[in-house]
Amino acid sequence: MRAEFLPFSQPSISESDIDAVVGVMRSKWITTGRECAEFEKEFATRVGCREAVALASATAGMHLSLAALGIGPGDEVITPSMTWASTPNLVSLAGATPVWVDVDRDNLMTDAGRIEPLITHRTRAIIPVHYAGAPADMDPIRDLAARKGLALIEDAAHAVGTEYRGRPVGAGGTAIFSFHPIKNITAGEGGMFCSGDEELAARIRRLRFHGLGVDAFDRETQGRKPQAEVLEPGYKYNLTDMAAALGRSQLSRLDGMNRRRAELAAMYDSHFAGIPDILPLAAPPWPHRHAWHLYIVRLNKPGLARDEFMERLKRRNIGTGIHFLAAHTHAHYRNSGGARPYLPNTEWNSERILSLPLFPGMTGEDVEDVAEAVKSALMGA
Ligand SMILES: *Cc1c(COP(=O)(O)O)cnc(C)c1O
Repeated sequence: MRAEFLPFSQPSISESDIDAVVGVMRSKWITTGRECAEFEKEFATRVGCREAVALASATAGMHLSLAALGIGPGDEVITPSMTWASTPNLVSLAGATPVWVDVDRDNLMTDAGRIEPLITHRTRAIIPVHYAGAPADMDPIRDLAARKGLALIEDAAHAVGTEYRGRPVGAGGTAIFSFHPIKNITAGEGGMFCSGDEELAARIRRLRFHGLGVDAFDRETQGRKPQAEVLEPGYKYNLTDMAAALGRSQLSRLDGMNRRRAELAAMYDSHFAGIPDILPLAAPPWPHRHAWHLYIVRLNKPGLARDEFMERLKRRNIGTGIHFLAAHTHAHYRNSGGARPYLPNTEWNSERILSLPLFPGMTGEDVEDVAEAVKSALMGA
């Protein structure tokens, strides 16, 4: 058994990342400013979107998107239950209703065929999730949203570096990325709203900072114009320059880090190919580049519960996570009334999934340790 605990995720922070942040701290301007503006430009170039707006988190991006679209009481928003709770939380906080859509049993992503029957006259938006680093099949979903006149917001929290049919996720649509420490790049915390819709992006930019007519930072005055006026009540969701500097530095390292993630995932694949009780997620059949945000497996061994299995791995010094417990099974949503939704694939996975350690700093030996621990945890306590 390995001597040291292996967490399921760990950010990769280089000396150059540290230097970038320290540089900002020495510069006498630490909140939203030049670094943020550069981060937005570089991210937009990388993703191939017209507009990128840096934010305090992806959750903030989802909040502002729903607000900018005017989604409120009486409205329905279609989203998978197999997602992070932030999306249904914000839909609920807006006074709207999350309508759960099921996902594919093996790639955990929803699709146009599952979404269409759920559309009613109350539906306002669709929020698909790109899962674990793979892209959802966006072309049919885009066609459906356009045909029905619905807003489409892609949850791209897992998809920094993911490509769909030869283009980065975030190109040609509206997508929200996360820079939480477990994500493929981090800014400590942070998020990026990306869109080809200039009007929507301008609204998000304004709502990000109190609803003022100008940004927090003005190149000439090194600050906000003191006379700036509130054009509409807004929020306080800007990203600091310290965070943006870390984000920029990480973005410059993204390809190398994702390459390492892919190598580690391939090692896992070969270990688990011969273990029928462990079912890794399947890669989607459409052309894509996988960002390997998470390495998720389903434990499918009768008589062995997932939570017990995770405990056994922990005793062997292997950390794991669950991404995610289906949102409709959380206490609040379970008890919020209405018919129990029919989500067989979501529920089957919610009981069986776990995320194994995957981060760029892992060694091949770490992967061997995990595979060994998985084999021994399958056999006994
Ligand atoms: C991490 C995550 C979010 C939220 O990102 P934050 O930056 O932490 O707000 C949203 N959706 C999914 C699928 C995520 O994994």
